[in-house]
Amino acid sequence: MIDLHCHLDLYPDPSAMILEVTRRKMYVMAVTTTPMAWRGLNALLQGSERIRPALGLHPELAAEREHEVSVFNQLVGETRYVGEIGLDGSPQHKATFPAQLRVFRSVLRSCAQAGGRILSIHSRGAATEVLEELRNVPDAGVPVFHWFSGSTAELNRAVDAGAWFSVNASMAQSKKGRELIARMPRERVLTESDGPFAKTGNETSTPWDVAVAAQFLFERWGVSQAAGDAILLANFKSLLKK
Ligand code: MN
Repeated sequence: MIDLHCHLDLYPDPSAMILEVTRRKMYVMAVTTTPMAWRGLNALLQGSERIRPALGLHPELAAEREHEVSVFNQLVGETRYVGEIGLDGSPQHKATFPAQLRVFRSVLRSCAQAGGRILSIHSRGAATEVLEELRNVPDAGVPVFHWFSGSTAELNRAVDAGAWFSVNASMAQSKKGRELIARMPRERVLTESDGPFAKTGNETSTPWDVAVAAQFLFERWGVSQAAGDAILLANFKSLLKK
């Protein structure tokens, strides 16, 4: 099982979560919301071969943590994975949009200077703007849109731009999410939990809830669980080779 976007450090007991994820032999990209969180998470993950920490600066925190861009720049050489980054255009975050843009542009430039990174991207209410910023910094790396919730036209443009997608149980449980997932190219889809922010049913998502999203994908693709697991693992390996 693969969880390409999980906030392992934000569960009440991160160490217990890391143990359980390790016991289940899962591959996890453990995203962070601020650059200051990266070192602590990296230390927690020493020896966890399949769990990789990603360096992030979440758009919802971009305004108050803009000064941490310098920390991001110092650390970007130490990891291949960047996230959670992006833009949020929803009404409650509109006011900070100029700061979000400054931070996102800076982060993308920094990734390009470092030779490109695998990017876990937040784009709620701002998929068009995110695509434009990515187009302006083509060497930033491989964008993976996490929990994509834009329009089908925006999704098509993201697909044309070569983007990847990580899908979660919440998406698989909503009509719009299912329609979007159906349009994603099979060879560029991975699973995610977005725990502990997302819910699976009424419960806080765990990394292993990626099984719910995977089940939906496998039904959609008309493949057995074994064949579906093999597709997702092949996708994961192909992403890491980028
Ligand atoms: Mn997230």
